[in-house]
Amino acid sequence: NDVTTWGKVDDYVTERLIPYDEVLEQVLLANREAGLPEIDVSPAQGKLLNVIARIKGAKRILEIGTLGGYSTIWMARAIGPEGKLISLELDPFHAQVAKSNVALAGLEDRVEIRVGDALVQLEQLAKEKAEPFDLVFIDADKPSNPNYMKWALQFSRPGTVVISDNVIRDGEVIDHHSTDPRVQGIRKFMDMLSGEPAISGTAIQTVGSKGYDGFYIGIVQ
Ligand code: SAM
Repeated sequence: NDVTTWGKVDDYVTERLIPYDEVLEQVLLANREAGLPEIDVSPAQGKLLNVIARIKGAKRILEIGTLGGYSTIWMARAIGPEGKLISLELDPFHAQVAKSNVALAGLEDRVEIRVGDALVQLEQLAKEKAEPFDLVFIDADKPSNPNYMKWALQFSRPGTVVISDNVIRDGEVIDHHSTDPRVQGIRKFMDMLSGEPAISGTAIQTVGSKGYDGFYIGIVQ
């Protein structure tokens, strides 16, 4: 099996289990036309985030790393009109594209995209005494993952679900000599979690249209 097979199987799963969605197609097209990198989650992963949010009955979601809002829309659809999703994005252009996509999806009432470095935005949320979130999705710059996890725990209550994408990185996560700061960021994140009683989780390797990577998923104790 190889990358081609993973992609074909992902297409098959998507075709069978994820009904054609005009809005999400438009969003991916808008992202491509705007020249955004195609590093959003895959359709199958977006649906997974949506399903987990519904299993959890999530009403408040925090996302770190918006890009064009593809994962944002998948999750925002799960929380109902009374729900609230706050998404943090460093790049003003990404945020602008995301806002337009969220409007296209008719979700602007429940989605707030905040522009700026996520660590600064998280401090700001703390100053505002933001209520705990039911689900936190970490998907921004990987060297900051350990810090993002600390903040996720701060904005949580028992039962809060925390998910992070890209924790396997083509298997490079096991290379302790890696000079890639993203790999080292994930390794620090894993080290931190291995001794952390506040959250119980696991990592699952994923293959598909986005290559070989993985999701961390945990539940706050
Ligand atoms: N979650 C998106 C999706 O699946 O559709 C993909 C997010 S993409 C992998 C990562 C995003 O994080 C990029 O848009 C990047 O600009 C943003 N980012 C990078 N560093 C950041 C930081 N320090 N604070 C906030 N966002 C950051």
